[in-house]
Amino acid sequence: MINQKTYICDTLRTDRKSNLKECTKAKLKQGDVISRSRESVVVAKWKGKRDVLMISNLHSLQMIEVKNRRGEKKMKPNIIKDYNQCMSGVDKTEQMVSYYDCLRKTIRWYKKVALHLFDTFLFSSYCLNSKYGLDKTISSLKLIVTDLLGERLNEIASRITNNSFHYFSSIPPNEKKKFPTKPCRVCSKIKRKETRYECAVCQNRPSLCIGECFRMYHSKE
Ligand SMILES: [Zn+2]
Ligand SMILES: [Zn+2]
Repeated sequence: MINQKTYICDTLRTDRKSNLKECTKAKLKQGDVISRSRESVVVAKWKGKRDVLMISNLHSLQMIEVKNRRGEKKMKPNIIKDYNQCMSGVDKTEQMVSYYDCLRKTIRWYKKVALHLFDTFLFSSYCLNSKYGLDKTISSLKLIVTDLLGERLNEIASRITNNSFHYFSSIPPNEKKKFPTKPCRVCSKIKRKETRYECAVCQNRPSLCIGECFRMYHSKE
């Protein structure tokens, strides 16, 4: 990994086969640390509230002074401090991304990975905008929507306000089924097709396939 200029610092499972026993099995008192290193890899076990085993290829172990929330000074390995600091950023990102998550249960795992990366890129662009953009207060969702709609934004906004913008939503779950389906108003006469979606704006909420049927139903109206 070093040769590929890839640096990692993470927790290490204690039961990994190639772990150094003298490090992992060591009995520590609170605040104690034991570490072993070879070339640029360091493995360290530290006892804070409980035992933590860490591996890193970007640190050499040092004890440094850190303040906790109550302002008390304590000594901690630099590996632990850096890890905690960066993980809180990762946790925050995951939290922010989860609000506008575009993942769906049914899709394949590799699509989930791709979509999650897409979500993360969007969040990064939002962070950059909040720091360097002209309008720093704009929300992430608004930023994306305005950008995607471009010049059509005003037209669509006015259609939404006078209820002539139709969009689909899932047919709500009932007692029997979590994802109920209904015959599509447009195509079910010919091919008996069922759909999980309906128009959320039309009266009686007609069930419709996404795409062509949805478009055809509304162009007839
Ligand atoms: Zn249909
Ligand atoms: Zn409609």
